[in-house]
Amino acid sequence: MEKKQFQAESKRLLEMMINSIYTQKEIFLRELISNASDAIDKIYYKALTDDSLHFDKDSYSIKIIPNKENRTLTIRDTGIGMTQEELESHLGIIAKSGSLAFKNENETKDGHTIIGQFGVGFYSAFMVADVVTVISKSVSHDQAYKWESTGADGYTIVPCEKETPGTDIILQIKENTEDENYDEFLDEYRLRAIIKKYSDFIRYPIKMDITSQ
Ligand code: ADP
Ligand code: MG
Repeated sequence: MEKKQFQAESKRLLEMMINSIYTQKEIFLRELISNASDAIDKIYYKALTDDSLHFDKDSYSIKIIPNKENRTLTIRDTGIGMTQEELESHLGIIAKSGSLAFKNENETKDGHTIIGQFGVGFYSAFMVADVVTVISKSVSHDQAYKWESTGADGYTIVPCEKETPGTDIILQIKENTEDENYDEFLDEYRLRAIIKKYSDFIRYPIKMDITSQ
């Protein structure tokens, strides 16, 4: 299977995330929930002009699914989803992340300051995961696709099965090291606290699901 390369700027940001000096690793969840919420917003706006879509607020949600046994954390949304081309262009290239430009101008500032002020986006998943898998089905396309990456060496995209439109972000959570604890990102109560801290304002229900693993 062909491994595709990240665009150069993205690769640098990705490397920053992987070798993260940031102390607030927990903000990855804020970023992924915010993307999930944006994806549901996009269906909402599309439904305003597209008669074939009906937006019923109650059927949209963001699920957080920790699985200690497999060391996975899944963020599942019922949003607009991505086509193969969108997976390629949206996750292979970081188009508008201000954080990289900011870092270049402020090399002396610590990561804490930078990350607190700017959304670092999807790649922040690599602060806590050594494999990131995205399974997505677009509302405007019948075929689902799986995007997968172990980091800066590139990513793969293959067709896959998914019944309903939306996106699953599956994080293979890193093993603990002497200095770093990652188990906390599989703990229901810790996750609830992180969600309360950063994502309390999200307008769609965020549901913890510890059974549908
Ligand atoms: P930003 O949210 O600032 O655009 P991100 O790095 O967080 O940057 O995400 C990059 C892009 O990937 C998003 O703009 C969006 O198009 C796409 N994306 C990420 N997560 C999802 C998702 N859950 N559903 C649909 N699209 C997504
Ligand atoms: Mg984002």
